[in-house]
Amino acid sequence: MKKSFTILCLFLLSSYAVAQTIQTIQSIINKVSIDTLMNNLRELTGDKPVILNNVSTSLLSRNRYSAGNSYTPIYLMQKFSRLGLVSFQQNFMSDGQNVYAIQNGTTKSNQYVIICAHYDNMPSGGFAPGADDNGSGTAAVLEAARILSKYNFEYTIIYALWDLEEYGLYGSNYYASEASFRGDNIVAVINLDMIAWDSNNDYKAEVHTRNVSNSLELGLLVHDVNSKYSIGINLFTSNPGSTASDHASFWRFNYPAVLLIEIMSDFNLYYHKTTDDITKVNKTFYEKMTKLALGVTATSAVPIQNTSVAQTFPSEFQLYQHYPNPFNPETTISYKLQAPSKVSLKVFDLFSREVATLVNEYQQTGTYNSQFLASLEAGQLSSGIYFYTLRAGNFLQTRKMLLIK
Ligand SMILES: [Zn+2]
Repeated sequence: MKKSFTILCLFLLSSYAVAQTIQTIQSIINKVSIDTLMNNLRELTGDKPVILNNVSTSLLSRNRYSAGNSYTPIYLMQKFSRLGLVSFQQNFMSDGQNVYAIQNGTTKSNQYVIICAHYDNMPSGGFAPGADDNGSGTAAVLEAARILSKYNFEYTIIYALWDLEEYGLYGSNYYASEASFRGDNIVAVINLDMIAWDSNNDYKAEVHTRNVSNSLELGLLVHDVNSKYSIGINLFTSNPGSTASDHASFWRFNYPAVLLIEIMSDFNLYYHKTTDDITKVNKTFYEKMTKLALGVTATSAVPIQNTSVAQTFPSEFQLYQHYPNPFNPETTISYKLQAPSKVSLKVFDLFSREVATLVNEYQQTGTYNSQFLASLEAGQLSSGIYFYTLRAGNFLQTRKMLLIK
């Protein structure tokens, strides 16, 4: 009797937790605003000027061969940093520039959920709005960052915007290969590419998946979120799905990934033309697709229910993944203090031997960057794995880094 009572209590507690999770994800979905999406999209397509470094500029093209292309990563970095997210520009090849921002998870911070889109576009030439392809996905990732950054999640969320997708998935491939090399534990990649075209209001869309890692399960989750939260997308599965967008870079390295895209049988008539502009956007469809993407991302990252837990959890003390990684000889370690604290930041080798003390002092609230120059520390370090540990008051966190000479 007592035992069954305990089981009943546990059952009620877990049902309560499930109900809370559903409520939190519903509140996230409800916050998606077509006005914010369209404002982002107007800026990305050059329809509305943006202020970059105090100068009014229009993003007339995001194509690699266009003169103004270099403005877009600056704009994207600015959008993320205004949300309080730590953002990175990742340069690759001679002219590629990925931009991504990291929102650290609480209990599973070394496992990553990536919501992503390519921001580059077509055609080459002076003017290319690329509203549907792929301003739509890019603006949706920015909307995800705006909304999800106000919540705490168990898993770390990465908001990633790739460059040079149009020329061979170069940006995502560079990131995925580096992630694989580091051994990053990526649990879900949600790629958005062309999510705002629906010529006949049937709200049809596709989720592309493959039998790679947990991609099929992730595809099922997209259906589940669509029905559970009554989002109203008429969703079809493509399996084995297309490899013509950035999720395929993650499949290549055996990571679970899906693509969300408008249905191929109603193909965008203005694809890769200078007429792919904001007037062609189906706003109701676009809002639904963004809601679906945020619902899937939030479900994968697992929101922390209890607001009192969220408030007292020391997530505002954060030690970020250093950049670049791997590195040689220099890398930057960033951290955030939510209160003035006695801070120590130290580097250790595989055998827990201290090789450097980077910080050891009382510091005020704020975000700090610390440089680690391997060649100057402890008489030339050899290639291999190192750890860095941040102590700030009761907060303690360790991360791994890789030196490659
Ligand atoms: Zn595209």
